[in-house]
Amino acid sequence: MRKPVIAGNWKMNKTISESIELVNGLKRELIDIQEVEIIVCPVYTALSDISDLIVDSNIFLGAQNVYWKTSGAFTGEISPLMLKDVGCKYAIIGHSERRKYFNESDQSVNKRIKAALREGLTPIFCVGETLEEREANKTTDVVKRQLSEGLEGLEKEALLNLIIAYEPVWAIGTGKTATPEQAQEIHGFIRSWLVENCSEEVAESLRILYGGSVKETNIKELMQQNDIDGALVGGASLDSSSFVGIVKNSLG
Ligand code: PEP
Repeated sequence: MRKPVIAGNWKMNKTISESIELVNGLKRELIDIQEVEIIVCPVYTALSDISDLIVDSNIFLGAQNVYWKTSGAFTGEISPLMLKDVGCKYAIIGHSERRKYFNESDQSVNKRIKAALREGLTPIFCVGETLEEREANKTTDVVKRQLSEGLEGLEKEALLNLIIAYEPVWAIGTGKTATPEQAQEIHGFIRSWLVENCSEEVAESLRILYGGSVKETNIKELMQQNDIDGALVGGASLDSSSFVGIVKNSLG
């Protein structure tokens, strides 16, 4: 059985005090939920305070990116060791906004994934096609390339500690959600790719999240699909009641 995951990607939003307020609300409302792995990914400046706040709770901490070196002259970057040090268990890697605005490539995503795994962080590895690519019938080619290059050289055992997020770029922040069937088609494709290129064991146990305008009102249907194991949530994770609603509605 794959434990469902609901992860909030706060992107570049919220001051420290706003982050604390949001997490206090989540803690109050979600205290009894053990059936879902709940993750929040605040901005770097709030990580330390949020880490203290969620110690011993059922909410876990993730970062929004990670660099592949441990330390050194890399102005503006943050290492896996530093994220572990502040209490992160997860790191989002290869988000389409990083690929688009900061020129991250499949190769640099691969280095980040390897470095995160080495340090014991669980990568939330994002893949997904643009609208242009979908309209040109290239969705599976794009996702296949992102998977094979992003996971290049990784041992099968290491892949057991990975989460994949399928996020069609055209559905991120646009209010346009992929239909459950559209999402399932690509989730199923990803799981088959894992069977062929990794192992049955990896394919069976690895969680594949859907991301792209997930809301309280559409999570249930998405979660009913065989290969959808949770969600990576952007906009709707910034509001306590909507994120709580998504977590609760994700339960069977
Ligand atoms: C995201 O940024 O990962 C995301 C899915 O955003 P949104 O939920 O706002 O579409």
